[in-house]
Parts: sequence; structure tokens; C-alpha cells
Amino acid sequence: MRRLFVAGNWKMNTLAESATSLGSDLAKQYPESIEKVELLVCPPFPYLAAVGSAVDGSAIQLGAQNAYFESPGAFTGEVAVEMLLDVGSEWVILGHSERRHVLGETDETINQKVLACLSKGLKVILCVGELLSEREAGQTESVLDGQMEGGLAGLDVESLQNLAIAYEPVWAIGTGVTATEEQADSAHAHLRNWLTNRYNSDVAQDMRILYGGSVKPGNAGSLMSLPNVDGALVGGASLQFDSFSAIIDAAVETTKS
Ligand code: PEP
Repeated sequence: MRRLFVAGNWKMNTLAESATSLGSDLAKQYPESIEKVELLVCPPFPYLAAVGSAVDGSAIQLGAQNAYFESPGAFTGEVAVEMLLDVGSEWVILGHSERRHVLGETDETINQKVLACLSKGLKVILCVGELLSEREAGQTESVLDGQMEGGLAGLDVESLQNLAIAYEPVWAIGTGVTATEEQADSAHAHLRNWLTNRYNSDVAQDMRILYGGSVKPGNAGSLMSLPNVDGALVGGASLQFDSFSAIIDAAVETTKS
């Protein structure tokens, strides 16, 4: 049985005060590890340390939203994996659609980051997902295949234990439009099948594949109860205690058929 995973991507939001108070409210609500559900928040870089202190010892883990693949050195403006680990990050989100489509990251760069993070002990949520135009052109599966092939190139089977996938259709991110249950489960099943073909069925069965794209308290339970959906990567709704805790509670109450 795969443990559900609910992760909050705060993107470029919050200031010191709102970030630490959201972190401490969540830590108070979820003081101890929950067997059924793994929890994570990913604040902006400047607040990682403060939010890390606020959630320390609770069920809430700390993650970053990006990392650079080089070791510390002359890379102005970048943040090294070593630094993220040093401030208590356990996870990093890589390949988010905003980094791909707004900041121009390629599968090649994402792959360099995936390899660097995993080799240094930072766990990875690798995001994949198609544009609306690609879905409408019937290219969803080939786009996902390309992003999986590119992002996971050169990765050994053991490293995959420290990785989760997030399927995030770009047209559903921050738009209020959520994939239908059928669209989500079918994309997740396709990704799992890709993992079986590329690696083996154990890898595919163990891999957590989160859904992301306008997850809200009202749709979280039904999405997470789908057979191939193992949790949620939540953007906008992770910025408010009430909505994020409602999504976490929905995960706790989820039963798989
Ligand atoms: C995201 O940022 O990964 C995301 C899914 O955003 P939202 O929940 O706001 O659509």
C-alpha cells in the first residue's frame, strides 16, 4: 500500500511573518507523524530556515522549490543542494511547469538537477504535465513519456525510492480547472505503466504519483481516492491553513477501493 503524500508548493508567496505562522499553525495541527499520509511544505528559499524551525519535530516536512545541480561555488543567484540540506530540507520540487514554461528549463537541466539532488540525499518530487494545446492535439501521453525519459535519464532503480512523481496538467495549474477523475487516473495509470516498461513492476507499484492542478478541499478526497492517485501537490490552496488542512484531512480519510 503506497503512503499518501500531500505537499504544499507555496511558490513565490508569503513573507517572513505569514510563512512562519502558516508553518507553526500546521505544526500545531499535525504534531506527530501520520501513518497514512506524508506531509510537506515548500516555502520560498528565504523562509526555509524559519519555516523549518516552525515545523521542526511535527509531521510537516520541509522542502524547496528548486535546486542547482552544481556544488557550491561561483554560480551567482543559484542555491546548492548542500545549502538546502543544511537548512533542513528533505525534499525538493523539480521540473514544475512554471520552471519549464516561464523560466525555460529543459528536460536536460531538470535531469541534471534530479541526479544531483538524489546523489546528495535530497528527495525529489519530479513534476510532469502537458499543455492544453498538447492535450487537444492528442499528445498527452507522448509529452509525459518525453518528460519521464528526459527527467529520469541515467537514474538507477535504488534512487527511485527517494523520488515521487507529480502529474500536473499545465492547463489545470492555478486556473481553477481541475482534471476530471477520468483524465487524472488515466494519466497516472499511463505514468505507472511507463515505469513498469522502463524499470519493473515493483518500481511502478511503489512509486507515489501525486496529482496537482487546482486541488481544493472540495475535490481533494475524490481525486485521492482514485486507484492511481497517491496524493496531491497543492499550490494556491496550500497558502491558507484552513484549505490546506482540509485537504490533509481529506487524505487521512481517503479509502482506496
Ligand atoms: C502547483 O503549483 O503545483 C499547483 C498545482 O498549483 P494550484 O494548486 O494552484 O493549481
